Amino acid sequence: MKELKDKILKNAVILNENVLKVDSFINHQVDCILMKKIGKVFANYFKNKKITKVVTIESSGIAPAMMTALALNVPLVVLKKQPSQILSGDIYQIPVKSYTKRITYTLTLSKKYIDETDNVLIIDDFLANGEASKGAIKLIELAGAKISGIGIVIEKSFQSRKKKIRKIRIRNLFFS
Ligand code: 5GP
Repeated sequence: MKELKDKILKNAVILNENVLKVDSFINHQVDCILMKKIGKVFANYFKNKKITKVVTIESSGIAPAMMTALALNVPLVVLKKQPSQILSGDIYQIPVKSYTKRITYTLTLSKKYIDETDNVLIIDDFLANGEASKGAIKLIELAGAKISGIGIVIEKSFQSRKKKIRKIRIRNLFFS
């Protein structure tokens, strides 16, 4: 996607050989116009898949995922990383290794928001080693829903994709 490529070349900062900082347009300050265009591209790509829900992982996937859900006219479900006293009881949980923070966090989904009638599109900002996407896939599988695609804003191709992810149709907008 040309606008995204231009934005990355102009505004992204290489923190080190493994991390690209995009907080001026995706996850701290948000370029809403660019996110809206990204949402339209993902929605258009998956438009024939009969998606019922878009799923993302808090927090940096929320902006592109929300715009995709809006363009597809379906709800957005945000998988929670933070421990919560409100979210308890009927939940699915899975441990995930964080790429940027180098810790393991617990990804949580309330059983209320995804079930076996759903057909899900996962959207995230980055695909690096694939741990976050793999965690999201496992939670959605626990809920019994179908996964019809993954939309990734920036895929770092030099890092390996996990096997489980390769089986699902992926649309990335920028490949590095
Ligand atoms: P993975 O689980 O695929 O290894 O990493 C994906 C997650 O780590 C994404 O949800 C994203 O938040 C974060 N991440 C991975 N690589 C980068 C990066 O280069 N820059 C930023 N800002 N986040 C990254």
